[in-house]
Amino acid sequence: MIFKCKNCGGNSVYSPEKKMMYCPFCDSENSDERQYEHAQMQLCPNCGGEVTYTEHTSALQCPYCDHYIILDERVEGAYTPRKIIPFQYSKEMVKNLIREKFKKCTFAPTDFLSEVRLNTITGEYIPFWMYDYHTRCLFQGEGVKRRSWVSGNTEYTEHAYYHVVRDMSIEFAGIPADASLKMPDGIMDLLEPYNYKELVPFQPEYLSGFLGEKYNMTSDLIESRAHAKMESSAAAMLQQSITGYSSMNAANRSITAPAPDTEFDLLPVWVYRYTYKDQEYPFYVNGQTGKIIGKTPVSSAKVWAYGATLWACLTAIIVMIGYLLL
Ligand SMILES: [Zn+2]
Ligand SMILES: [Zn+2]
Repeated sequence: MIFKCKNCGGNSVYSPEKKMMYCPFCDSENSDERQYEHAQMQLCPNCGGEVTYTEHTSALQCPYCDHYIILDERVEGAYTPRKIIPFQYSKEMVKNLIREKFKKCTFAPTDFLSEVRLNTITGEYIPFWMYDYHTRCLFQGEGVKRRSWVSGNTEYTEHAYYHVVRDMSIEFAGIPADASLKMPDGIMDLLEPYNYKELVPFQPEYLSGFLGEKYNMTSDLIESRAHAKMESSAAAMLQQSITGYSSMNAANRSITAPAPDTEFDLLPVWVYRYTYKDQEYPFYVNGQTGKIIGKTPVSSAKVWAYGATLWACLTAIIVMIGYLLL
């Protein structure tokens, strides 16, 4: 499907600034209507150009007419996302964020912040599974409280022994794990946190203007990642509930949970795939909070230029001192 403007026939997109559908060609708001539903998708339904995409793509941009196309069968049925956090940062806002953050980065290559390169930034919806766990956390152990005091010439130490039991139910709601093969897991962890209170029911309109993927992996396949997060949080909460002892011998500790409830959601990320000397330096920006993850390449030419200036200055100073000493 494609969202077309009823007034001018242009491609309507979701505007993060206006928080509604917007036609950038005639400036009209909420003038969109769906067209080309369930079109045969080897060719762009708008211009007929040949479009290519991967087995996971759900939303793409036609390279010929620039229209944003949403693949109906990949946002429907089992692939319907339950919720989505719409982009809060537009492309222009993200370009300004990156410029602001790296303007003092002296050694970055000259074109790193150029308009042409920054315009290659793409807004991408990353598929996520969210897991809800109903956990039971049990602990049994022997705690010791030690108390020492001095009376006369004698030092006394008292050991008091306690049978410590904890039986807690902890509910975890929405532990995220990204279901995209191309997105490095570590990066998504760094882009956290998202404000999950802003998840809203999915509408395909949100995808217009952005790229998207259906989930690449089923919820079972990546559940261990969410499970590990749940387990370490539950263990920490259990630990925090046991305080005030000099020492503790755990006899039994268990964290169990039945199979979690899962939900398929989409989260917004801006990606800047900057290449320098055939190497890619990807930058990721949280599309909701503006948090930036990435490292600029260092231009060796610039480092050289800087080193040369510094060296020239040092030589000049040494020469001057030399003259003064004479
Ligand atoms: Zn229009
Ligand atoms: Zn096209």
